Amino acid sequence: MAVRTRIAPSPTGDPHVGTAYVALFNQVFARSRGGRFVLRIEDTDRARSTPQAEQAIVDALRWAGIGWDEGPDVGGDFGPYRQSERFALYRRHANDLLTAGKAFRCFCSAERLDEMRRRQQANGETPRYDGKCLALPKPESLARAASGEAHVVRLVVPGEGLCRFTDGLRGTVEIPWRQVDMQVLLKSDGFPTYHLAVAVDDHLMRISHVLRGEEWLNSMPKHVLLYQAFGWEMPAHSHLPLLRNPDGSKLSKRKNPTGLDYYRRMGYLPEALLNYLALMGWSMADEREVFSVAEMVECFDLARVSLGGPVFDLAKLDWMNGRHIRALSADEFMARVGAWALNRDRLAPLAPLLQHRTERLCDLVGKVDYLLGDRPPLAAADFAHKTLSEADCKRLLDHIARCLDEVAEWRRDALQDALKSLAVKMDVKMRDLLAPVFIALAGRSVALPIFDSLAFLGRDVARIRLRTAIDALGGLSRKELRRLERAYRDVVSG
Ligand code: GLU
Repeated sequence: MAVRTRIAPSPTGDPHVGTAYVALFNQVFARSRGGRFVLRIEDTDRARSTPQAEQAIVDALRWAGIGWDEGPDVGGDFGPYRQSERFALYRRHANDLLTAGKAFRCFCSAERLDEMRRRQQANGETPRYDGKCLALPKPESLARAASGEAHVVRLVVPGEGLCRFTDGLRGTVEIPWRQVDMQVLLKSDGFPTYHLAVAVDDHLMRISHVLRGEEWLNSMPKHVLLYQAFGWEMPAHSHLPLLRNPDGSKLSKRKNPTGLDYYRRMGYLPEALLNYLALMGWSMADEREVFSVAEMVECFDLARVSLGGPVFDLAKLDWMNGRHIRALSADEFMARVGAWALNRDRLAPLAPLLQHRTERLCDLVGKVDYLLGDRPPLAAADFAHKTLSEADCKRLLDHIARCLDEVAEWRRDALQDALKSLAVKMDVKMRDLLAPVFIALAGRSVALPIFDSLAFLGRDVARIRLRTAIDALGGLSRKELRRLERAYRDVVSG
């Protein structure tokens, strides 16, 4: 059977380093077996998916050096490769399941489901659909649907026994059916959920091997049922270990840079990043640490993927990046520096800011240091201010970070509007609100205009600088974080 793998990102946020990690393993596995690698865009969440996010994912993966043989941008024989263009297929397959009695229509109201969930939680049970509509006679179910009554389609799940399946890395896995919910497959608006769409697409796109994040392991029983219900052969599934923060929790943007854009802007070489991501879940038989993707393809063996929770360690990545930089020829090195930031496109937004503030061209260097380079490490004393205490600065930076996370489009004007409205809601002067931001971004209180700086740095770099500034002020305990989160909600809800 021809080997076909895929990466299936949802375009609902900024390109994540975890997507590059899973993509790398799928690409390498396919190449090592002479197979094909597919990009599929999982945009079934219509409220949260945007074309801009899709474009950003495609660009970021390409920057990282990931390449696919089939996908929405390159075509292929098994398209369309965007789930939003496949809705008719999912509806047809959901109907097939209804006809075969493998799925049922559920007419329960949101209130009933809420009430049921609350009751189950109060009894210490895992929330799970109780099966009320499973008992509806078929003619009644049909008639109610025909009369236009709102409903979803759910998967029929066995009440007892074990679901047994094979994971390529874990061997046989058993999950009791009673832990598995009667999953909604088609929502009341007729849109599919991930579970239906992923099974239909992996089958129709002839995916032979699914390598995906560990967080999907518990969804396997639903997928096993779907494949059985359709009578399809299931692809081999392997669930890769999740990347972790140093404290063992799942890699998160609050604790680590998770956006691929951060690594691009800070001058990591894509091949160093991929080399590092490769080592997160896998090792060469000879324990060599520095290698190229081509060498990884040559030596790849799925059996060498290890299941320990790999900790994302920036210091190790920096070391790795240095190794790759030193291995470049002088010419290549200069080309990389140019491609990184010393080029017209990247510098263009700075020109109008600098031209009016410069007497000698050499003054430019000191003005853009924090925009092209990292900012110096901070200490609490750097935030000294005539009216703001350190605690005030922490609270402001926390709220500013939350507010900026909610700005949909990272553009100068949108950033300015968001922080202006935050200042009004917090009843602080804009100048005071921005004082700690200057320090957080630039390490000093006088710098180029703040909103241009934020726009230039990008969301991921800005987030990290705000976070490490809070750390310099002593950081936030879990309790303080919770308190600030509540305080922020109160502020923005007015
Ligand atoms: N859209 C899912 C995600 O972004 C894909 C999971 C899968 O690979 O099946 O995580």
